Amino acid sequence: MSENSALKAKLGIDVFKPGKVAHIKIKPGREKDARLQAAILLCPAGLYRANEKGEVTLTTDGCLECGTCLVACGIEVLDWNYPEGGTGVQYRYG
Ligand code: SF4
Repeated sequence: MSENSALKAKLGIDVFKPGKVAHIKIKPGREKDARLQAAILLCPAGLYRANEKGEVTLTTDGCLECGTCLVACGIEVLDWNYPEGGTGVQYRYG
């Protein structure tokens, strides 16, 4: 099993309860900010993607709440909050 597939298998054990609103948002007008390229590479859940227009999109379903994207991009680019109570990730086996 490759390192990447082993990580995906471990993440697949976790449970995610979605909230009503996304707890992390790319601020309007920042979708092409170069710092988001780091988020694409670093997000362990692979939640950032670039589209054909060069804009970066984010889906928060499956977010591990690790804060890596906030460190990489900063508050100028991301509106970052923890999910509402009772929603978000529930870790299993660790
Ligand atoms: S907090 Fe972590 S898992 Fe969630 S979007 Fe940011 S980098 Fe990805």
